[in-house]
Amino acid sequence: METKHTLPWKDTPAKSERIVSAITRIASVLRSGAWQFATTEGLNPTQVDILEALRLRRAGVRLSWIAQHLGVTSASASDSITSLTAKGLIEKGRDSGDGRAVALRLTRAGQDLAARISNSVGFAHEAVADLPQPTQDALFESLLALIGKLQQSNRFPEIRACVTCKYFAANKHSDSKAPHHCMLIDTPLPINLLRLDCPEHDQAPLAVAVQNWRELESA
Ligand code: SF4
Repeated sequence: METKHTLPWKDTPAKSERIVSAITRIASVLRSGAWQFATTEGLNPTQVDILEALRLRRAGVRLSWIAQHLGVTSASASDSITSLTAKGLIEKGRDSGDGRAVALRLTRAGQDLAARISNSVGFAHEAVADLPQPTQDALFESLLALIGKLQQSNRFPEIRACVTCKYFAANKHSDSKAPHHCMLIDTPLPINLLRLDCPEHDQAPLAVAVQNWRELESA
């Protein structure tokens, strides 16, 4: 019988396309893991994101910060917060930096639920931790570089990452494993400890943040 052979790589999409496809599929698996859990708790995706964003910010944050952090409108964030407050998962208090402003924080029940949501994607943490250390390092640096590219083209919401922080000083040291510096705690910053979401983050001017992303690219 005659078989028609084709070259399996003939129609292989470009590498950039396959990388984006891989990221999309991983994100979809993670989302569905978290959402399956959240659905049983009667939460929608934005509410899940809010609980996760507040989990490590016990001092509380303002509504405008949440909207900016999630890349949603203030109206959408407000609706979700009203619902989470009614469920007893969020409470309103005074902002420590401005007594007239309202800060939102998790209640004890909210903290417990946010921790369980985080644990629902524990399988992904385990899979990453199982990769060889050099692979983890390369993956982290590559994802950071990609976030930088997307931020510079205004396609990624603001993040409280070292690279966009006013305390970050890029390439201040000759040590290739710890070339950067955190001026807040006045200590070298190893690449593998660069943060994506630091509670102490203070936004650097845009031009400085762009320059920092470029410095990371060229390192
Ligand atoms: S304060 Fe936080 S975000 Fe800023 S450079 Fe230091 S560790 Fe990074």
